[in-house]
Amino acid sequence: MVTVERDPRHVESRLLAGKIGCPSCPDGILTGWGYARRRAIIGAAAPIRPRRGRCRACRATHVLLPVTLLLRRAYLADLIWQALTANAHGVGHRTIADRHQVPASTVRGWLRRISCRLEPVRTWFLGIAVRVGVDPVIPKATGSPLADTLAAVAAATAATTGRFGSEGMLGPLTAAAMATASSAGRLLSPGWPPASVAVGATPVAPAAGALGL
Ligand SMILES: [Zn+2]
Repeated sequence: MVTVERDPRHVESRLLAGKIGCPSCPDGILTGWGYARRRAIIGAAAPIRPRRGRCRACRATHVLLPVTLLLRRAYLADLIWQALTANAHGVGHRTIADRHQVPASTVRGWLRRISCRLEPVRTWFLGIAVRVGVDPVIPKATGSPLADTLAAVAAATAATTGRFGSEGMLGPLTAAAMATASSAGRLLSPGWPPASVAVGATPVAPAAGALGL
């Protein structure tokens, strides 16, 4: 899986130009290799059919997942991010579910998943803030592990935009986009930390590499 920008035309032109690296091998370049299955995404205007790429070197195929999506989630990453943020501010999962017209069990699933990995996720994003930031501001602990984790993502976002600007190759760098791109979409998927981010296209700072900065 490779996180790519929102606009499929840009993805296509980067594929044609050989500018999307393979996450499985150090020097591989992906070329177009059909499409992954079309998926209905709640919150998106139309179904999304991600492009698939194949490495010229190792021949592995990878789904090119837009930065708007998390792996194996049928909701826009922005919507999931809003739910996590609301819960960090004390809003319960049923209220969040009503607000976004999402099943309560789905919201509870997101919250349970993130709650099992708050500390490693927080540490991961603070690491990005420290590596990327020129003079990173480390957020103070608030007593809420979820709020502290979201603050770490915000710190990583601020550090990255402070150094590279708010427009990365993947588009505007929001906290949700940061959470998606620098976890290769795995924020709520099995397997943390997302080891595959650190290898592949840009074997420098994972955050900057994954974000195409
Ligand atoms: Zn490869």
